[in-house]
Amino acid sequence: MNHRSAVDLHLHSTASDGMLAPAALVAHVAAQGVRLMALTDHDTVAGVAEAATAACALGIGFVAGVEISVSWRGRALHLLGLAIDPDSPPLARALEGQRALREARAEAIAERLEAAGAPGRQAHAVVRARGTIPTRMHFARELAALGAAADPGSAFERWLARGRPGHVRAPWPELTEATVWIAAAGGRSAVAHPLRYPLSAGARRELCAEFAAAGGHAIEVVTGGGTASHREQATALAVRSGLAGSVGSDFHDPAVPWNPPGRLAKLPGSVRPVWRGHPFPDLAADPETA
Ligand code: AMP
Ligand code: MN
Ligand code: MN
Ligand code: MN
Repeated sequence: MNHRSAVDLHLHSTASDGMLAPAALVAHVAAQGVRLMALTDHDTVAGVAEAATAACALGIGFVAGVEISVSWRGRALHLLGLAIDPDSPPLARALEGQRALREARAEAIAERLEAAGAPGRQAHAVVRARGTIPTRMHFARELAALGAAADPGSAFERWLARGRPGHVRAPWPELTEATVWIAAAGGRSAVAHPLRYPLSAGARRELCAEFAAAGGHAIEVVTGGGTASHREQATALAVRSGLAGSVGSDFHDPAVPWNPPGRLAKLPGSVRPVWRGHPFPDLAADPETA
């Protein structure tokens, strides 16, 4: 177990597009050996209270988090807010705005799918009835359930990925704006899965430099499904831009094998862990969780 990180600061629950309810997610990651976790649902903190209670009962370190959809140079990026105050009024207002953007986008996705011959409105009705913040993943699952694709992955390929009929751009807030929301909520900001965006190496370096200059804290150096090469590139980016590093699986679903919690590599020693010190719990200073 020694080469595995006991930290996982990127996890989804049924409050967004994860398959496990917050308490079940906490039990699952704790059973996989994780000792410090963050719940980071897409643009919502609705699962945080339940997860915090469950983590407390199981004795594992927990911080509130969120994965905010933002834009940078016209591209959609994901920004993690870690160890945030989930009741921060400016953050709550901002997340209300994100919900409105997501609901408007879901309407547009439904119409575009319908126009392309897929059961978009029917899928949308099921997604709405669930009452969670809508994501493309919800559409993917319902399209598969309705027979418009073999499985959610194929639904992305056929209908929802970039360049497909159900891909709708949303006017997400700028990266720098969301960085301020996270700071106002007392948290640490981290660019999620920085190697997953289709950017040139130069643009990726500029992204990190701009983010650091805007008061951003970290990039996710160890990510679920990331290769050793991704880790090395992210390490170089963090060191070069003076950003700390985070570790997160981006786990959604126990049935998906590529990013299980509790199997991530440790953060390379050359990168400062984002979870060291305030506002993270003392447990985070324990070298066992490094
Ligand atoms: P959204 O934030 O609504 O655009 O939805 C993005 C979510 O959909 C991601 O967080 C993933 O969970 C999932 N996702 C995005 N692209 C793919 C893909 N190509 N295959 C499977 N899941 C995907
Ligand atoms: Mn997701
Ligand atoms: Mn993401
Ligand atoms: Mn995620």
